[in-house]
Amino acid sequence: MKITLIPERCIACGLCQTYSDLFDYHDNGIVRFYDDPNLLERDVPASEELLEAVKQCPTRALIKD
Ligand code: SF4
Repeated sequence: MKITLIPERCIACGLCQTYSDLFDYHDNGIVRFYDDPNLLERDVPASEELLEAVKQCPTRALIKD
């Protein structure tokens, strides 16, 4: 599935990484992918953890397609 980050919506709550190590944070706490700070979307295997991270993000800064 495709995961898209919308950094403008992220409030740096730190929740998504508690569900999936796919997510990490810039120094200011805004979400990024763990292995590429510049990428904003990517295809990844679907998993319960990822679905939960997307679902729990309070500002819908994580989108799945
Ligand atoms: S759960 Fe959402 S708001 Fe919180 S750090 Fe992750 S992307 Fe940002």
